[in-house]
Amino acid sequence: MKCAFCTIPEIKEREIIGNDLAWAFPTNIPITPGHTLVSPRRCVPTLADLTDNERVGILELADEVMAALKKSHGAQGFNMCWNEGVLAGQHVPHFHLHIIPRSEGDEGLLGYDPRSMLYRTGDREPTPEKELRAITDAIRKAL
Ligand SMILES: [Zn+2]
Repeated sequence: MKCAFCTIPEIKEREIIGNDLAWAFPTNIPITPGHTLVSPRRCVPTLADLTDNERVGILELADEVMAALKKSHGAQGFNMCWNEGVLAGQHVPHFHLHIIPRSEGDEGLLGYDPRSMLYRTGDREPTPEKELRAITDAIRKAL
């Protein structure tokens, strides 16, 4: 069974820019105006499934889209991320990098703001250095 990106023709028709390996298109549920997705042309779900060339192709398009969003939407900064796995909120099983243009005074829609989620805000305490070293060691051992 194919995913929405591969079965809904409008999504391919919405291509902003593309190369042999990937294409960029506006999401139909933007967090801010100009919110764009970049996907590999192959229907694969995760970063691990991408070839090195696909990764480069995706980042090249991201670079071009960011430059364009500065002009088209007055972007002054960006949030970029992808959700990987159903538990993390990946609803379409086709890898897609989110490019969310940010500008002064924007709020995002539906109260969703990656800046609040990704950064330590409010009264969250910094993790002690000893704990960070333990985390570093644990991840290194797993490499
Ligand atoms: Zn797909």
